[in-house]
Amino acid sequence: MVFTGNTIKLELAELKKYNLYRRPHRIEVYGARALINGIEKIHLCSNDYLGLSRNPRVLKEARFSLRHMSQCSSRLVAGNAPKLLELEEQIAKHRDTESSLLYPNGYMANLGVITSLANKRTTIISDELNHASIIDACRLSRAIIKVFRHNDLEDLEILLRSTTGDKIVITEGVFSMDGDFSALDQICCLAKEYNAMMIVDDAHGDFIFGSPGSYSGVPGYFDVKGMIDVNVSSLSKGLGCFGGYVASSTLVRELLINKSRQFIYTSALPEHLSAAALAAIPFAEKGNLQHRLFRNVEFFYKKLTDLGFSINKNASQIIPLMIGDEKLAVDFSNELMLDGVFVQPIRYPTVGKGKARLRLTVTSLHTKSDLLTAADSFEIIGKKNNII
Ligand code: PMP
Repeated sequence: MVFTGNTIKLELAELKKYNLYRRPHRIEVYGARALINGIEKIHLCSNDYLGLSRNPRVLKEARFSLRHMSQCSSRLVAGNAPKLLELEEQIAKHRDTESSLLYPNGYMANLGVITSLANKRTTIISDELNHASIIDACRLSRAIIKVFRHNDLEDLEILLRSTTGDKIVITEGVFSMDGDFSALDQICCLAKEYNAMMIVDDAHGDFIFGSPGSYSGVPGYFDVKGMIDVNVSSLSKGLGCFGGYVASSTLVRELLINKSRQFIYTSALPEHLSAAALAAIPFAEKGNLQHRLFRNVEFFYKKLTDLGFSINKNASQIIPLMIGDEKLAVDFSNELMLDGVFVQPIRYPTVGKGKARLRLTVTSLHTKSDLLTAADSFEIIGKKNNII
C-alpha cells in the first residue's frame, strides 16, 4: 500500500471513531498539582511515586553536575563519564547483583538486553500483560515468542514443559496498567526448574517495595535473591529521575556492552541525570517516603471503594478504576478534568479492547485534602455517568 495523505487521515479518523485517538495536553507538573493548558488540577497520574523529581537535594546535585547538557557521544566513544560508572556501582549494590549497565531509558534497557540475550533459536515465554517495550524487544530479537496467561502458573508450566532449547521467562514486578504483583516467587521457581533464564522488569516496583536500603523492589518483597538473572528498571518512576538500567552478572554486562545496539549506537545518559539519580537513591532508601505513599494509597483506595467504584484490589500505588467502554473512559476523564482532576483514560492497545480504565496513581506528595477533593469529583461524575 502506498501511503498518501488520505490513508493517514483515514487511519486517524478510524482511531477517533473508536475513541482511541490520543492528543497530549500542554502539561506543567508541580508535584501533586499540574497546570493543564494553564489551569491547575490535582495530578493523579504521575509515576513520580515518591516525589523525588522535586527533591531540592536531587535538583541541586543535577545543577551542580551540569557542566554540559550531555556528553554528546555514545558510551563507547566519549560518553563514559565517571557519574555513570558511580551510578552503575550504586545500582548493582541496590539490586545485589555483580554489576549494572545504564541505558538512556527503561524502554531501551528492555530492547537492549532482550535482543542481546535472545536470537531465533531462543524461546521467550512472556506474561500477556507485559509492557510494550518487552513486547517490542521480543519481536526485535526474532526469538520464538510464547505468551502465558497473566500470572497463570499452570499455563506458564505447560509452555515451559513443551519448550526445548534456550528459554527465557520474562515478567514485570508490578504490572503498569493493573497495578498487581507478578507471582514472582513461584515464577522464579518454575524458571529454575525448567532451566530457563529469568528476567524481571521492575520499573514500577523499584525503590517502592521490599526493604528500603537493602534488597529492594518486588524481588526484595518476594525475597527471590539469586533467582533472577536479569533485572530491568526505569529511573523515572520510584526514583523520580531519568534513565534505565539492566542489573545482572558481569558476564551479561560485558555482552551488552559488546552487542546491544541500544547501548552502542546512541548517546550516553547525560551526566547530570546520573548525578541526580545518585542523589535520589539515599532518599528512596530511607523508607519514610514509601510510608507516606502507602498511607495515601490506602486512604484513597478506601474512599473510592466506599463510594462503590470497581477497583481490582492490589497492594500497589497503581489504582486501576475499571470502566470497560472506551468512550465512557474518555468522557469520565474529560469531566474530571473540568472538575479539577487530571487522570488519563487508558485504552487499547495499552490494554485490551473493552478494558478501558482510569489509571490512578497516588504519590507521597498528595495531601489528604487533595485526595478528598478528588474523591468528591469522582463521586459526582461517577454517579452522573452511572458508574457507581
Ligand atoms: N517497563 C515498564 C513496565 C514501564 O511501565 C515503562 C514505562 N512506562 C518502561 C519499562 C519504560 O521506561 P522508561 O519510561 O524509562 O522508558
